[in-house]
Amino acid sequence: MTYLPEVEVIRKELEKEVQGKRFKDINVKSANAVARHRNRPEFYKALDGRKIESLARRGLLLLFELDEDQTLVVSLGSRGVLSRETANSEGGPDTQFTASFTTGGALHLIDPAKDGELFVVPTAELETVPELSTGGIDALADTFTWHAFAQELVLRQQPLAVLLRDETFILGLGDLYADEILWSAGLSGLRSSHTLTSQEVRRLYRAIFEVLYEAVKQGGIDQPEEDADEDDDTEYGEFVKVYERVGEQCVRCRRPIVEVEFDGGTMFACSACQT
Ligand SMILES: [Zn+2]
Repeated sequence: MTYLPEVEVIRKELEKEVQGKRFKDINVKSANAVARHRNRPEFYKALDGRKIESLARRGLLLLFELDEDQTLVVSLGSRGVLSRETANSEGGPDTQFTASFTTGGALHLIDPAKDGELFVVPTAELETVPELSTGGIDALADTFTWHAFAQELVLRQQPLAVLLRDETFILGLGDLYADEILWSAGLSGLRSSHTLTSQEVRRLYRAIFEVLYEAVKQGGIDQPEEDADEDDDTEYGEFVKVYERVGEQCVRCRRPIVEVEFDGGTMFACSACQT
């Protein structure tokens, strides 16, 4: 599970460790991982010898700001993790990218779903990266007032379940955080965004911050193991109140959690206390 809080946790953990480090000995297992370059050697050439000045994040993308006005952009995909390793560590079968630092240590992208991606762009051209120009809110980075938020809800006139999955509105929530935020706000995902009272808008606004910051504080939510026992209700831990918890009791009102269809997918919600 790699959504906004998980990417932010990785950024925070790596930030101090990689700052000032210079890349060498870069290796990418599959050309698909660097598909925005013509080939792997072109990517190696762009990254080799570059020094990391800082590590930023925008939505789900990690941005390694490099010297020479370049930026290494890393998408972790659905389940990827970037980790610091020792220079002589070869990595496992899921390691898609490795690079050493001239002063020791290495950086690995471990990506079991093989849908992560890396590319280097001139920093001045970052705004042309499609994922960076959706206009969506980054709730862990942007300041936006509840008043501006309310106006946007009125303009959009979309079901809340759709809106919270829309990257042009808000970045990187995915199904899990969209469902958890709506439960926390006590709102049905089927409600159209322009029908909310000002009190409900405030509840939704607050729930977005509370759920995301709490997830960061907890170090993100781990993906359950694929062979995990399906009856094990602690799969996701106590933090997750509704997502994939069909049939369990809502911790707020004791009524059952249900799976609900909406135009564009399905969501998990309490059958009683989200209205
Ligand atoms: Zn409930």
